[in-house]
Amino acid sequence: MQTFQIDFGSQAKQRIIGIDLGTTNSLAAYMGVSGHPEVVDGPDGDPLVPSVVVVTPSGETLAGNAARRALPTYPDRAVYSIKRLMGKGIADVEGELKLLPYKVEGAGADVLRVTLADKSLTPPEISAIILRQLRQNAEAALGEVITQAVITVPAYFNDAQRQATKDAGRIAGLEVLRLVNEPTAAALAYGLDKRKQGVVAVYDLGGGTFDISILRLHDGLFEVMATGGDTHLGGDDIDNLLLRIALEDVASEWGTDLSTNTEAVQLLRRAVIEAKHALSFVPETTIAFDYQGKQYRREIDRHLFDKLITPIVDRTLGPCRQCLKDAGIQPEQIDEVVMVGGSTRIPLVRDAVARLFRAKPHCELDPDKVVALGAAVQAGILSGDVDDQLLLDVTPLSLGIETMGGLVSKLIHRNSTIPASATENFTTGVDGQTNVLIHVVQGEREMVRDCRSLARFDLKGIPAMPAGMARIEVKFLIDANGILNVTARDLRTGLEQSMDVKPSYGLTDEQVEGMILESIEKAEEDFQERQVREARVEADTILAAVEKAKQNDAYWALGDEERGTISQAINQLLLVYHADDHHLILAKIEALNGATMKLAETMMNTAVNTALKGTKI
Ligand code: ADP
Ligand code: MG
Repeated sequence: MQTFQIDFGSQAKQRIIGIDLGTTNSLAAYMGVSGHPEVVDGPDGDPLVPSVVVVTPSGETLAGNAARRALPTYPDRAVYSIKRLMGKGIADVEGELKLLPYKVEGAGADVLRVTLADKSLTPPEISAIILRQLRQNAEAALGEVITQAVITVPAYFNDAQRQATKDAGRIAGLEVLRLVNEPTAAALAYGLDKRKQGVVAVYDLGGGTFDISILRLHDGLFEVMATGGDTHLGGDDIDNLLLRIALEDVASEWGTDLSTNTEAVQLLRRAVIEAKHALSFVPETTIAFDYQGKQYRREIDRHLFDKLITPIVDRTLGPCRQCLKDAGIQPEQIDEVVMVGGSTRIPLVRDAVARLFRAKPHCELDPDKVVALGAAVQAGILSGDVDDQLLLDVTPLSLGIETMGGLVSKLIHRNSTIPASATENFTTGVDGQTNVLIHVVQGEREMVRDCRSLARFDLKGIPAMPAGMARIEVKFLIDANGILNVTARDLRTGLEQSMDVKPSYGLTDEQVEGMILESIEKAEEDFQERQVREARVEADTILAAVEKAKQNDAYWALGDEERGTISQAINQLLLVYHADDHHLILAKIEALNGATMKLAETMMNTAVNTALKGTKI
């Protein structure tokens, strides 16, 4: 189902991008024309921008893939994992410092200063270099100037860390319209806000951090119930483990200890990471490392890999249990589990999470893109491309069925949020009618001929009875995927007939927009015509009823004069029947009603009265 907006103005709208500013990798995404978020590809076609900055000896500042490639060459001119230092003072980061190879200084509560080559920069200034790279990638890919963004932050980030992230945006020339919690963004990317209520667990295993969050959803808004995790647990731990094994292998095979050779270690690290990534998709692979004319090859299969990493995966489970406890809920109360972070591609991780939460986790979207995609959804909401959180998906046009007189009876109006449903009762228009044709139409106009015909089907086997006596229930149901199911049911017999229709199939946004504009233009005209047609349907009904009453003894019991008045009233109605004036038709119907009043009263079976009730299909 498409989401769209009528743009009456000519003002070009600024595009807002969504950014996942990660510890290991960052990326940007935007709301595509399809109404779905899309990631921004970098110049090399890769959407992931490693959160690495390098200043080369010639003074050039590199970010992303270029910086990561330069890292083995200039390890002492590089900064990574800067997210760990955002919004922190020196006392907060003592534990971190021994793990970070670059120089970090600061006194008391002062903002930290990081040495990058010959420069001294604050963490927001370094993050801004990454943000600037993302912004450039987006501008190049979209061919427009970008000045506004939504940036995601971990749910546990405090005010200082959030402020530092905003500062980074400003330094990069981006107005940060909103900071969104990473788990919330992931849930938005999966459209989980549409379920309106529920509990969602978001399991995020990235490069160097593990986060678990439990969110409660009310009325489409997310509330963080509890968060937990481990700030030093992730894919890096797996890399280090494999690297240690490979270094030992190399030492025994080649008789050389490479562990102090930074360049060799970086290259071997890349080799084990490649093997790790492959093992998420294939059952076995080879760690391949060539250095100074020597070759190292080691087969590794998933079985061995799983055995090696089990202790690392198990370390994520404790924080998950704690988080459940903090939220005060049992695993069975979790409605949905969302997987985030590149390391959740590992099958063993998926299995462990499924077992713990007793639910199949969402893995359909790329786990390293899902946060950015959700940020783009939030950006779409802010820019009005997506109506609001509760209106992520709406029916672009009204849906209804044809009723007598070629008129449309709308069941679901345009811009209804989906899933949506509506039920209405109809009746037959002709005596003895045993079939009704359900004609499903889409559009804003009043007449069937001006709408789009979607489907037709018959409800057969209705017991023959006078017009207006049958009760036919028509139910429309649009599911979350935009599929319309129409069911017609004869309430007397329980007989039913249904069919599935895809309402938006084959319609472009422009066509939809055109149909809506046309309905606004023709509203007055349509309204007039509808009134005339409704009056004619009413005239048909009363004329048929009077015709039928003529077969009743009660009619012949009337005096000649009264029968004369009725005939005259019938003729008068027939005379104005084709006039395009509903007032005139209604007045003559009124007159005929008056002339037949006594007849109707005297008839035991007041078919004249009953026949007037209900909209006729
Ligand atoms: P962060 O959010 O911490 O910036 P990401 O979500 O981008 O990090 O995850 C990065 C981690 O995901 C890295 O450790 C990387 O090796 C790992 N990763 C990426 N793809 C795979 C894969 N196919 N199999 C296993 N791990 C992967
Ligand atoms: Mg992340």
